[in-house]
Amino acid sequence: MLPMLGQLLKQMVRKPFTNIFPAKYAPKNVKKFLEGVQAGKIKIHPPVELPEWFRGKILYDREKCIGCKACIKVCPAKAIEFKEEEKKIKIYIGRCIFCSQCNDVCPVNALSMSNEFLLASDNKLDPNLIVE
Ligand code: SF4
Ligand code: SF4
Repeated sequence: MLPMLGQLLKQMVRKPFTNIFPAKYAPKNVKKFLEGVQAGKIKIHPPVELPEWFRGKILYDREKCIGCKACIKVCPAKAIEFKEEEKKIKIYIGRCIFCSQCNDVCPVNALSMSNEFLLASDNKLDPNLIVE
């Protein structure tokens, strides 16, 4: 118990090893924070380089889409909805598991995976998490 308590106290005074994430939850005074980074007073970790095959937020080219629904059929997360009137789709990124199956099956290449991954939000219907 005692060694654990010592460890706990140490952890409480240690600086975190990670950057504040996501960026939108940075301190209210972001300007001051960024000035500190620029002046070298605050150290942040450089972004990790993304591999070529990275699967981030889906991009949708609605002009190309022919409304075949193939993407909907293969989506294991039921993240894609069909908009009957427009014969187009709507993707709920909050449900997406980034498997890329919809991209692979689309006959007209209307879908692709971007490099965007800073998607954390406490609102699953955040406009940034809806693609249409
Ligand atoms: S990447 Fe996978 S989970 Fe996400 S919308 Fe496409 S098929 Fe569904
Ligand atoms: S598979 Fe492609 S063309 Fe078919 S509905 Fe989905 S996005 Fe549109």
